[in-house]
Amino acid sequence: MKLESKITALKGIGEKRGKKFAELEIENIGDLLNYYPRDYEDQSNFKLLYEADIEEKATFIVKVLSVLEDRRIKRNLSITSFLIEDNSGTGKMSFFNMRYIKNQIKIGEAYLISGKVTKFKGQVQLTNPSFKILSEKNKFGKIYPIYPLKKDISNNEIIKAVEQVVDLKLFEENLPAQLIRKYDLMDKNESIKNIHIPKNKRSLIKARQRLVFEELFFFQLTLFTLRNKDIEMEVKPYKLESEIYNFINNLSFKLTSGQSKVVEEIFKDMTSGKRMNRLLQGDVGSGKTIIAIVAMYLTFLNGFQSTIMVPTEILARQHLENFRNILEPLGVKVELLVGSTSVKNKNRILTGIYNGEIDILIGTHALIEENVEFHNLGLNVTDEQHRFGVRQRQSLNVKEKSAHTLVMTATPIPRTLALVLYGDLDISTIDTMPPNRQKIDTIAINETMLDRALVFIKNEVKKGRQAYVICPLIEESEHFELDSATEVYEYLKENQFSDLNIALLHGKMSNDEKNEVMEKYSEGEIDVIVSTTVVEVGVNVPNATVILIYNAERFGLAQLHQLRGRVGRSSHKSYCILYNTSQSKISWERMKVMTDSTDGFYIANKDLELRGSGDILGVKQSGINTLKISQFPRDLNILKYAQSEAQNIFKNKDSLEEEEKLKLKKHILGNLKIDVSILN
Ligand code: ADP
Ligand code: MG
Repeated sequence: MKLESKITALKGIGEKRGKKFAELEIENIGDLLNYYPRDYEDQSNFKLLYEADIEEKATFIVKVLSVLEDRRIKRNLSITSFLIEDNSGTGKMSFFNMRYIKNQIKIGEAYLISGKVTKFKGQVQLTNPSFKILSEKNKFGKIYPIYPLKKDISNNEIIKAVEQVVDLKLFEENLPAQLIRKYDLMDKNESIKNIHIPKNKRSLIKARQRLVFEELFFFQLTLFTLRNKDIEMEVKPYKLESEIYNFINNLSFKLTSGQSKVVEEIFKDMTSGKRMNRLLQGDVGSGKTIIAIVAMYLTFLNGFQSTIMVPTEILARQHLENFRNILEPLGVKVELLVGSTSVKNKNRILTGIYNGEIDILIGTHALIEENVEFHNLGLNVTDEQHRFGVRQRQSLNVKEKSAHTLVMTATPIPRTLALVLYGDLDISTIDTMPPNRQKIDTIAINETMLDRALVFIKNEVKKGRQAYVICPLIEESEHFELDSATEVYEYLKENQFSDLNIALLHGKMSNDEKNEVMEKYSEGEIDVIVSTTVVEVGVNVPNATVILIYNAERFGLAQLHQLRGRVGRSSHKSYCILYNTSQSKISWERMKVMTDSTDGFYIANKDLELRGSGDILGVKQSGINTLKISQFPRDLNILKYAQSEAQNIFKNKDSLEEEEKLKLKKHILGNLKIDVSILN
């Protein structure tokens, strides 16, 4: 048996099952052993109901006996509770605002549940506990792996396959021996074995540590390698004409010190003779757009074309207007290419781009999908990067390898993490805000204050201002009791806002419909927009002064911060109202972070603390799905060591023994086979 042997070489896996495994991207034994559990069921450490103490966090194995309650208590509060029992007695578990839970929990089945214990008349009660159906008990002694699954393949089936090969020591050690010694790392085969079938908790931790280290070490090494080879590409250096400084001095405002610093960094890149690869971070409203405009104008002065890619059509249209206002008087030709551009227009624009008549192209991802051929593309800007994957960011570059790249994002990322996510980019930060910005007053409310909030909004409208009401995404497949945009819209139109101009905006509308609503809104013909998060990024309507966010607990803090950034864009006092329909303590803690601070970096860090990294930073979205096992902020510490060791090795690569060098090389490319191609 080898790592390359087909999965069908295993007992119990024929052609048909083999296809099912292939759907999980498990085709050979190596894939199988690299398919790590997503979780573990620790059956070694559970309590009996009668032993549990108040305030204690504990895990129980219980049988669910019956549904006790399933009803609405108030407009925005429902309860679903179950009677549970184990060998020591009975208890109760309750779920708030999760009525779909009734379809998930099966009466008569055994579950592993964990949560904080409260007691009522001596009986144990758990509120919103985490739960999972109990798998086969005590199979591996005490800790049982849970694999990510798809339909038609069971956890046990994977375990049975893994068991057949996990002791064969099929891997060669891929980390340098000196690092294994220095950090007392578990060896490769031992850690593979323990990540699947842990001997005990300690060996699971050691195994995970080693695999995380390995993953981050090779990831960093790959980034250093790529950066050195492909990314630092020689290009014709730009000239800094005096016109560019005239342009900056004649803007309707003076650049902030943070903006000026970044402009200089960009100028330095563009005149260096190497291709620029820069990430620009700057909080919502810090003024990133003008930086892009300056860089694009310099590109124009040097005789090159440039593009800016944005995540939504709404934003693309807004940029078009803004760019034309500023640049067309200077003879720069700006055009827009989006999904809804008519065929006739599209052909005209594609021709103009091809023969060089058009200088700047603004677009959505239609830009990448279209076969746009540039006359001479010099700069490629991506705005609000967190909405795009690395894959998309890179694919434009693949076409025009020599074009400078500027990626702009409002999602602040702690520096160490930024190095992982954007290790191939230099980082600039705008650390100042334009002057005279009013602080946005933020409050968090529950359902008892909703009516007052609506009256408040109405009063703002009477003063001539406008408002946003934001609702979570409409997801019909989910049975969450969320106030969907359509429902809230209907309700407000019939009730509190019956005498206002109110409109609905959501992602399922056509682009033309969306544009029409946004246009009317920016011209002040609409007072209140009820919307899903399509307005999240970049939209600029300075007269809007209130934003009310329904089910605020459903949003990431970084996202709430983005949404809040839609207001406070003029000298009018602005407000953000977070309507939290959850009772949970953590949701109120998260609201408090928002009401306490308007600093995007502080908020992002808190969000990390309270939620973990994955979904906020969009590690997946960023295309870095090679990170199979590392998680942030949990593994930041390991990252630091892995990073410095990788750096060390990279610096001293010439003194490495030939054999060691070959081994590392093989794993740099082998380990990261999926993403290497998109990183260059
Ligand atoms: P973001 O960084 O969120 O993309 P924008 O570029 O949209 O921010 O800028 C927000 C607003 O601030 C715009 O109306 C812009 O014209 C204005 N602005 C940008 N820089 C300055 C400045 N230095 N002084 C005053 N206003 C500025
Ligand atoms: Mg912006």
